[in-house]
Amino acid sequence: MRFRGSNVLITGSNRGIGAEIARSLAGFGLKVWINYRSGEAQAKALLDEILSNGGRGDIIGFDVTSEKDFINGIKHIVSSDGSLSYLVNNAGITNDKLAIRMRVEDFISVIDTNLKSTFIGCREAIKVMSKKRFGAVVNISSIVGETGNAGQTNYSASKGGIIAMTKSFAIESAPRGIRFNSVTPGFITTEMTNSLKDEIKQDFISKIPLRRFGEPKEVAEAVAFLLSDHSSYITGETLRVNGGMLM
Ligand code: NAP
Repeated sequence: MRFRGSNVLITGSNRGIGAEIARSLAGFGLKVWINYRSGEAQAKALLDEILSNGGRGDIIGFDVTSEKDFINGIKHIVSSDGSLSYLVNNAGITNDKLAIRMRVEDFISVIDTNLKSTFIGCREAIKVMSKKRFGAVVNISSIVGETGNAGQTNYSASKGGIIAMTKSFAIESAPRGIRFNSVTPGFITTEMTNSLKDEIKQDFISKIPLRRFGEPKEVAEAVAFLLSDHSSYITGETLRVNGGMLM
């Protein structure tokens, strides 16, 4: 895939889907900034792997819920590389409970990590990318942002919010040459889904036409496409990567 830009920040990329996005984009020649919250050792190991495969990258630790730290993180990247071409807002958490037992704190913590942070990242990306009148952002939403899910009123609200917010950013930023799209993964094999009980996993699999969970690499390739020159006329779109679970 071809990329006009040169570097990318992927939030929450020390493990899971984010790490695979970093591997994939490094493979396409981009300098990848691996963000982590607590997983510094994983971030360093991933960077070593990327460098030893001939890729370019660096690590940058900050908590995406902190507006100040997120802004400083982007400033650090721009002072190091001169610009930021691409951003993937991937960091996310779950805190599942039936709504009737969910405290406001449980709701807000998920909204803060998943939705507020994505807002901060998108807003700061516009400021930086506008200077070159070029850039692209992909926000990682979820299938449950479209369908809802029992036990996930907080998570589904955050992910549904990302889909709508991405479209608003796309409209506002198109005149500045910046594209915003979201990806809605279905069930993907990572630590986030490893904790699901086997019978629940089997129940989900029976509802997936491709009859399996997706692999992080399959999300990473959709993200790469939406950042690449090959999607230059696509903005405000929501790309489903879910094995046909929702069409
Ligand atoms: P994961 O394996 O649990 O990894 C989550 C990542 O987010 C970790 O790198 C974690 O960093 C980082 N993170 C969490 N809170 C953060 C914070 N406040 N600041 C910075 N980084 C933070 O999750 P995943 O399955 O790869 O999911 C990645 C994204 O895909 C999430 O947005 C998730 O909602 C979405 N998604 C996943 C699935 C799925 O089936 N797995 C499906 C749909 C959507 P630390 O390790 O340092 O804490």
